[in-house]
Amino acid sequence: MNIGILALQGAFIEHRHALDALGARSFEIRQLADFDPNMDGLIIPGGESTVIGKLLVELHLLEPLKRALASGLPIFGTCAGMILLSQRVANSDQHYLDALDTTVRRNAYGRQLASFQASTHFKGIGALCATFIRAPYVEQAGPAVEVLATVDEKIVAVRQGSVLATAFHPELSPDTRVHEYFLKMIC
Ligand code: GLN
Repeated sequence: MNIGILALQGAFIEHRHALDALGARSFEIRQLADFDPNMDGLIIPGGESTVIGKLLVELHLLEPLKRALASGLPIFGTCAGMILLSQRVANSDQHYLDALDTTVRRNAYGRQLASFQASTHFKGIGALCATFIRAPYVEQAGPAVEVLATVDEKIVAVRQGSVLATAFHPELSPDTRVHEYFLKMIC
């Protein structure tokens, strides 16, 4: 199994460490030449969604990514990755990959609340501690979207077909169960 990790900006090394711990191979995608259509899955990390989105366009990575999504490639987005995968952003007119029938709100917990942890119940995994950093949440989800986790009644993890997204950062925790969930989706 070989997983591509978008490495334009943000927390991508931590995803590699989580995959290493699970014995899965990974490689970084920094430019179009790195985009291997034979990869088994792809991770879009956290960071700044506006910056990552702009780089996707400038580096001509947006269309190959959309094609990969359309072909059913399993994709896991965390935080900014969730925003980039969403069809709608409540407080912005940005939309890039249009893969999730969701409306997300950026910086949904307020700009000042830089980071916090909360416990949640992740469907199929159980209780886990989630780390949020200037996080979004899902305000509205269409019928094809499976809600996997909520915090204070706000949706913070979803799956739609081959696409998984979390508003929090599982890669910042030594707990690798969300990455394991993604690897199981691929198998
Ligand atoms: N606030 C960022 C955004 O809107 C996301 C933060 C993150 O990925 N940790 O893109």
